Amino acid sequence: MEVFSTVTALQDRISSLKKNKQTIGLVPTMGALHNGHVSLVNQSKQKCDYTIVSIFVNPTQFNNSSDLEKYPRTFEKDLNLLEESGVDFIFHPSVEEIYPQNYTSPEIDLGILDKVMEGKFRNGHFQGVVEVVKRLFEICMPDFSYFGQKDFQQVAVIKFMTNYFNLPVEIIECPIIRTNEGLAMSSRNMRLSQLEQQQSLVIYRALTFAKENINRLTPIEIIQECTNLINDSGLTTEYVEIVNSLTLESLSNDWNSNTVCCIAAYCGEVRLIDNMVLINDFKN
Ligand code: AMP
Repeated sequence: MEVFSTVTALQDRISSLKKNKQTIGLVPTMGALHNGHVSLVNQSKQKCDYTIVSIFVNPTQFNNSSDLEKYPRTFEKDLNLLEESGVDFIFHPSVEEIYPQNYTSPEIDLGILDKVMEGKFRNGHFQGVVEVVKRLFEICMPDFSYFGQKDFQQVAVIKFMTNYFNLPVEIIECPIIRTNEGLAMSSRNMRLSQLEQQQSLVIYRALTFAKENINRLTPIEIIQECTNLINDSGLTTEYVEIVNSLTLESLSNDWNSNTVCCIAAYCGEVRLIDNMVLINDFKN
């Protein structure tokens, strides 16, 4: 496994591989890695000749400075996990390397993607995500890039951005990896106490409740039930939304054949997000 911290060194390495028609898979991460990240690596390794994992805590996607400051950083542990997973290259750049002085941010109107749920509650977050992912694509020149459905809205933004700028990368969505009890794995879970980890399981219970009741209740009724369930368990919901998974439009009285339930809730100071597909036209 080779570790790179500069753009030029990584690009030299990748350019020679691309000349030999080797395929590159990129897994962008912010580190503090867990099995959710490893599942993305495994998918990349199955398809691509070489897999790059980037580890970069991107300051421009944090709308809250304390969240950025407290974001877990476990670089040495991450390296061990990635070595065990058989990753070829790690890209671990500084902020200056990603955003040099002559850097200009991409301009993109994300439309509704930036106005609902994560876009609504984390002002500027997705512009930051677009900025870093577009830059990582330019640097790493991947043929495929892997993203988790855990960040459902982020995948929609990345796909939109890739089309918008006509980037030669195929976006691969990977399923949510959960603990045995159902908590979606997340770097932020490291900040939860044992008790809080138990309390946070209510998010999965709420999503499961939603899925089990689509034939009995309307979206708005489910949203109300899930909100009560979560708030009664000691967490504080920021939003519970049921949306059309293709357009992200909110559903209230009627179901749509592509539907996902998305939740953001605070457990203490830690903001958790999760989601579950309730109805999937393509699979049923
Ligand atoms: P992050 O380091 O949180 O920016 O996440 C890097 C990538 O890993 C993103 O594409 C996430 O959606 C994905 N990811 C994070 N947690 C999970 C999970 N529990 N299951 C699947 N993918 C995940």
